[in-house]
Amino acid sequence: MDLLKESYSRAFLGVGGLIALAAFLFVPSLSEIPDAGELEPLVAASAEQTRVEIIGPGQTFGGVMNRVELPAADQQAILLAFQEHASPGRLRVGTEVNVRFLRGENEIRGIDVPVNSDELVRLERDDFGWHSSLVQTPVWTDTVFVAGEIERDLWSAVVLNAGLDEMPRGDRARVIDLMDRVFQWQLDFSRQIRAGDSYRLAFEREVRPDGSMRSGRILAAELVNRGAPLYAIWFDLHDDGTGGYYDLEGESLRRAFLKAPLEFRRISSRFNPNRMHPIHNERRAHIGVDYAAATGTPVMATSDGTIQVRGVQGGYGNLVQIRHSNGYMTRYAHLNGFASGIAVGSRVRQGDIIGYVGMTGTATGPHLHYELHKDGRPVDPLNVDIPAGDPIPPEAMDRWMNESDFRFALLNRAQSGPDLRMARAMASGEDASAEGDTQ
Ligand SMILES: [Zn+2]
Repeated sequence: MDLLKESYSRAFLGVGGLIALAAFLFVPSLSEIPDAGELEPLVAASAEQTRVEIIGPGQTFGGVMNRVELPAADQQAILLAFQEHASPGRLRVGTEVNVRFLRGENEIRGIDVPVNSDELVRLERDDFGWHSSLVQTPVWTDTVFVAGEIERDLWSAVVLNAGLDEMPRGDRARVIDLMDRVFQWQLDFSRQIRAGDSYRLAFEREVRPDGSMRSGRILAAELVNRGAPLYAIWFDLHDDGTGGYYDLEGESLRRAFLKAPLEFRRISSRFNPNRMHPIHNERRAHIGVDYAAATGTPVMATSDGTIQVRGVQGGYGNLVQIRHSNGYMTRYAHLNGFASGIAVGSRVRQGDIIGYVGMTGTATGPHLHYELHKDGRPVDPLNVDIPAGDPIPPEAMDRWMNESDFRFALLNRAQSGPDLRMARAMASGEDASAEGDTQ
């Protein structure tokens, strides 16, 4: 926590020279805008009145209905209707039940009960009694443009980016996950990001009424790593939602191997780049990569393959060894345990969870020891050359050219300075000067 606070205040102390400037634009998509309809010229009170009842510790939905003085017969009907979609006994403490009446009347017209962050059960009264429906919590879609430079590490450069102030902190961490998933074949964020690297992103997100992100997708990304820019442009080749990322030449970013067997945000060294390989306690020459991570952190197979070893093996402790095509082999050591279904001879796919970080064998703290071998010799996973996935096929080339030009151009909105505020004013119809500058 202290580390967090420290870097947080540093980011703000450094605001004058803050390089991590960003834009936060609302570019509504055509489909998802809640339509408020025509506004009345006069301010009129809503015809409906809402009362919010919060389910407290030890309280039940029935208790809420008692508080709003619903007759017993209605309560029975409401419970039956509710049970078509959810269990009243499973409502979480803190759930906000919205009870709607006609203004000036005591009769309850309807009740909305959120059952998770994306759905609510809507109970309504009609001439025949109570009925229920499951309603998606409304969302809108916007596009967020953000740019920053890495001063300390990627995590703080994104999570502490002043341009993302309007976004809940947990969602900012999810932006890092999105980046990690886009570049997982190109970069090990924990070991290859350097101070002075920079990023620009345009991502589309679905936002719930409370401002949190239901889902997000990077449309275009630029990551300048040691002076060399990497690009990722989203493209849905089959137009079925299962798209992927391509570079500016239309080459897939996908590779046969992930750079790292752990999700970036689970690697604890992100908090302190000076402590990247703290746990090295093996006497023989070190032929792998160590990742400090909490016990129980899921470990992924970096490529498709067949399990060769699953069990205790000397200093490796609990070890998984996987044979891959083209003479490659990987090892994952010191595991706390194995994922279910992992057995010698079983097939795994890239990204499958094979086990969990631990400190079995020769290890002084929880970490993952990872090795990559080619033709029986250890190789450096960061420097091995893995061929690219399938490029854009010729028949999709026209569409790719159009869409990638458009998405690439989005990156230019993710700039610091006056352009950014102008772009925002244009997008939202607001006065640019009303957008406070980041200082
Ligand atoms: Zn090691």
